[in-house]
Amino acid sequence: MPNLVLIITGDAGDAKTLQQVLAEASDGPFAIEWVTQLSDALTRLRAGGIDAILADMWLRDSRGIGTFDQLFALAPHTPIMTLNAQDDEALAIEAVQRGSQGYLSKGHFCSYLVPQSLRNIIQRKAVEEAIFIDKARAEITLNSISDAVVGTDMAGNVDYLNVAAERMTGWQRDEARGRSVREVMKIMNGVTRDPERNPIELVLQENKRRDLTPGTILVRRDGTEVVIADSTAPIHDSHGKISGAVMVFHDVTAAQLTAMEMTHLAQHDFLTKLPNRLLLNDRIAQAITLAKRRGTTLAVLFLDLDNFKHINDSLGHAIGDKLLQSVAQRLSACVRGSDTVSRQGGDEFVLLVTADRHAEDAALTANKILAALAAPHSIDKNELHVTPSIGISVYPADAENAETLIKNADTAMYHAKEKGRNNFQFFKSNMNVRAVERQVIETNLRHALERQEFALHYQPKVNLASGTITGAEALLRWIHPEWGLVLPDRFVAIAEDCGLIVPIGRWVLREACAQARRWQDAGLNPGSVAVNISALEFRRTDFVDGVRAVLHETGLAPHCLELEITESVLMRDAECSSAILQQLKDMGVQLAVDDFGTGYSSLSYLSQFPIDVLKIDQSFVRDLCVTNDNGIIVSAVIAMAASLKQRVVAEGVEQTEQLAFLKAQHCEEGQGFLFSRPLVAEQFGTLLANGLGHALAAA
Ligand code: C2E
Ligand code: MG
Ligand code: MG
Repeated sequence: MPNLVLIITGDAGDAKTLQQVLAEASDGPFAIEWVTQLSDALTRLRAGGIDAILADMWLRDSRGIGTFDQLFALAPHTPIMTLNAQDDEALAIEAVQRGSQGYLSKGHFCSYLVPQSLRNIIQRKAVEEAIFIDKARAEITLNSISDAVVGTDMAGNVDYLNVAAERMTGWQRDEARGRSVREVMKIMNGVTRDPERNPIELVLQENKRRDLTPGTILVRRDGTEVVIADSTAPIHDSHGKISGAVMVFHDVTAAQLTAMEMTHLAQHDFLTKLPNRLLLNDRIAQAITLAKRRGTTLAVLFLDLDNFKHINDSLGHAIGDKLLQSVAQRLSACVRGSDTVSRQGGDEFVLLVTADRHAEDAALTANKILAALAAPHSIDKNELHVTPSIGISVYPADAENAETLIKNADTAMYHAKEKGRNNFQFFKSNMNVRAVERQVIETNLRHALERQEFALHYQPKVNLASGTITGAEALLRWIHPEWGLVLPDRFVAIAEDCGLIVPIGRWVLREACAQARRWQDAGLNPGSVAVNISALEFRRTDFVDGVRAVLHETGLAPHCLELEITESVLMRDAECSSAILQQLKDMGVQLAVDDFGTGYSSLSYLSQFPIDVLKIDQSFVRDLCVTNDNGIIVSAVIAMAASLKQRVVAEGVEQTEQLAFLKAQHCEEGQGFLFSRPLVAEQFGTLLANGLGHALAAA
């Protein structure tokens, strides 16, 4: 379609010439409409479709520059050229200043120049229009998005701010314009809080895009701070030359807070607020890197609470939780701020301790922990006692990575448990074999009860003077389908650790009482049957009732049952022990202190306990004839027991010389291979029927 030109002139001659020139244009004809006065022109323009206007300023109904103004007001987007008399160039120039695209001199309508200038102005106007629309679109877009946009020139002076940027910086666009971006956007490092160079300056210098350092802080005009994220890019002109920069950013304060909370949650233990396994691993890995570089060492302490399960079971989880919190606090107080105390879960804690020179310094920390945990924790009116067992592994001696360090410390911790708890052990490489064995035993123990793999053997206690059997000690045996006979030393401590000793102990008690009753029913007199009680069983609140129930169930008279409790168990919490012992005593059950001499007895307590029997540990009896010292100890114990009106049983009597010594000291009873090894129930029954005669005769 040809371009449509509206000619406005009262001069019919001019109109005719122009029509002719335009109709014959070499690059194709224009379509033409002609009106003679302004009112007609305005009517025609309102109808639309006009591509360009050629207008005489002097018309019948409008004269001078006002003509142009009215046309321009109605059709600002249509290019207008004025037609002017040669002596009136000033008016033409005024029109150009007000928006006209140029002018043609009357009487000089050149058939070549007129069509060309018309084409030029139509095209230019079209381009201008397109640019205007683009700009408007960009402006609207920039003000509608929530990202802030700041632009600068090459000097780093602000030349643009969108609405979001005004809000974020606190600067209005007009105030900010021309000021240094450094002033409008103060930037700070999120970690060090040091002022940072504005990224725009760097981009202007380097002429390449860059992202903000994560956590960058923008200080607003009023001094408040926001954490921002995003990027800055250079702007290039049409020749590809850098002409400024634009920074796009948004507020990530809330997002960063949530992210920080999430990381904190993921890396900390909910109950104690201590770092968890995840964070610990990370810290150990970091500490290893540092130690490697500096040639220093570090230690990992694996800590397990000794009787925590018992507390949890008997007093409830709420108190157990508070106890863990209290332990966590004390542990944190034992180390430096740069060290890490973490909770692995359950009652296990792992500490990372860095040392400058001697990894053995970890022993100091371990001792500190033992001392710190020794005092009772008062929780909800309870005075609770917990002791820890601690295993220590050291970098680089024991392992080179976090995982193995923790594993080895764990292994050493089990060793500490075996060594009687409430102590610490450094890892040694041969411990690993034992740790594996432990694990295998625990797994197998879990099914041993239901698969009926346990049995009791009975060893007689003998009156040394008369040679008669005064009772039997029930000793637990595990007959494993593959391994055969397993002795208690290999599995009782493990059963205690995992709590399995409780159901196993209950089975032992019931079976021993039932067996004693069977012998009695068969007309035999087994005297009292002794059952070994572990710490975990003894401290359970339902223990006394359990004993009562078993006696009732089996019909065994209480005085026919003897409970053996080791000295160290009784002494751990003497007052509590005393109360439990008294309840058992009141029931009529007999009480024996097992392995006497190996613990740290307080004699004043011991004399207050309602004890019937002291069993002298076999280690004293064994060496009886080798050194005189033990002879003295054994004599002293016998004398003391006599004064407390307690019976004495010497354990582990193997040799006639030992027997002779004991008899000479008036020790009443003995137990040992010299008289009989532990026997299955049937054999023991035969022994009861026939007596021991020959063994004593040899003495
Ligand atoms: P214990 O209560 O001191 O039992 C005596 C141990 O000495 C038994 O070992 C017995 O076989 C052994 N023995 C007896 N006479 C002699 C001797 O003349 N020479 C030597 N060298 N040893 C002798 P056993 O049966 O291996 O039991 C070891 C420990 O396991 C027991 O020490 C006891 O503390 C524990 N235990 C055994 N049965 C049970 C049980 O049913 N429950 C609990 N909690 N612990 C048990
Ligand atoms: Mg015993
Ligand atoms: Mg013993």
